[in-house]
Amino acid sequence: MSRSVKVAVIGAGVSGLVAARELKREAHNVVVFEKSSRVGGTWLYNPKTESDPLSLDPTREIVHSSLYRSLRTNLPRPLMGFLDYPFRRVERGDPRTFPCHEEVLRFLEEFADEFGINELTRFETEVVKVKKVEEGWVVESRASYGGGDSVSQEVFDSVAVCSGHNVVPRVAEVSGIENWRGFQMHCHNYRVPQPFQGQVVILIGLGPTSFDISREIALVAKEVHVSVKLNPLMKGVKLEDFSNVRFHPTIKCINEDGLVVFEDEVTIYADSIIHCTGYKNQIAFLETNGVVTIDDNRVGPLYKHVFPPTLAPWLSFIGLTYLDPVFPIAELQAKWVARILSGKIVLPTEEEMMKSIQQHYQFMQENGLPKRFTHFLGSFQRDYKHWLAEQVGLPPLEDWRDAMYSHNIKSFFEMNGGFRDEWNDHYWDAIIKTKQLHS
Ligand code: FAD
Repeated sequence: MSRSVKVAVIGAGVSGLVAARELKREAHNVVVFEKSSRVGGTWLYNPKTESDPLSLDPTREIVHSSLYRSLRTNLPRPLMGFLDYPFRRVERGDPRTFPCHEEVLRFLEEFADEFGINELTRFETEVVKVKKVEEGWVVESRASYGGGDSVSQEVFDSVAVCSGHNVVPRVAEVSGIENWRGFQMHCHNYRVPQPFQGQVVILIGLGPTSFDISREIALVAKEVHVSVKLNPLMKGVKLEDFSNVRFHPTIKCINEDGLVVFEDEVTIYADSIIHCTGYKNQIAFLETNGVVTIDDNRVGPLYKHVFPPTLAPWLSFIGLTYLDPVFPIAELQAKWVARILSGKIVLPTEEEMMKSIQQHYQFMQENGLPKRFTHFLGSFQRDYKHWLAEQVGLPPLEDWRDAMYSHNIKSFFEMNGGFRDEWNDHYWDAIIKTKQLHS
């Protein structure tokens, strides 16, 4: 017999939308809380930036999306659809393999329409507290639609946290930077290159965002310097050169006179520093009496990045892993959560789940991986997806997905940014032929 429970889904981005769909399919009673007025989460571009360009001021108004105006996807279209709802080209849309951000938002809006998620969603309603009580979970929310401001509480059997993790910037620690007089910002607040016209700019970090904006700024700036600390999972990344872009190791210090000194003793005077140094996991509304903690971006303990063993299955986290194809992974996690809640799938015992988590932590420790990489799947991505698929009774995901993903990562660093335009259907057909892959 299938069990139907009342579930609060927090957030209507990729993870929340697909969680709501899967929970609804399993006949659960679903309410989605979304603080914005629209679905899309990160994909809802906001030209506004935060009042503090480094996002350190605790009183600032938080802007959720980190998208910059020119952003095109960093994954090809086939990896950005759901397993049973592909990201298809549409008439009058952006037909490119790596489309603009507006195209992703259009796709998510279409998904929400198609599966009736808007009807389940309380827009402009921010969850301010989630607390465990005897009967379940109290969700306290503040509704701001129509200019109002009303707080209400409601009890749910279960809560799925889908609130995103690219919102609170992590800023680099550099000796001497606190006295530096130049302009500093986090890429969370970067939108367009014009403010950097004619400047010498340093970007700290090399991920997809730094990759894009270093090249965009290079078109208007005098010089762009990218400071790279290769993490152990990014060995072998090839750094190609632009005429006014230079790559450097980490910054050793900033002298009192403003001179920036890199570890290789190269020195420069810069006008601006942009921190492209990732984000902090922060779930301010969640109160679990210390059961779930966040330590250096490790949200834990979480079995398979989803369930805290002692609160499972009544509290879950969807979309916490990063730098992987978020759409299908969130979808598989959501299917798993929905079916566990309906009683069709049974979780291992609390002890077994804890043991699995400890094994993961031990592996990380033995391999010198800091806690902040806990939810970075890296080379485990394939096994993780297959494991989830098996749990929910789906066949293993097609091989082309992994091939496309690793080819994408390789291309990203090797083809000077232009690979996005070269990569059309013919391009991928040729890769498949070379690698003998079957799509
Ligand atoms: P989000 O998209 O962040 O959605 C979370 C939602 O929760 C938001 O709508 C927010 O308003 C809501 N929310 C948060 N707190 C509350 C609260 N207290 N109450 C109510 N609502 C709340 N992924 C790719 O697959 N391809 C790409 O090309 C790609 N490019 C990216 C580029 C950038 C610059 C960034 C930052 C990320 C990129 N990503 C990309 C990853 C991206 O984060 C995921 O695609 C996806 O948006 C994650 O969805 P999510 O639902 O988990 O989180």
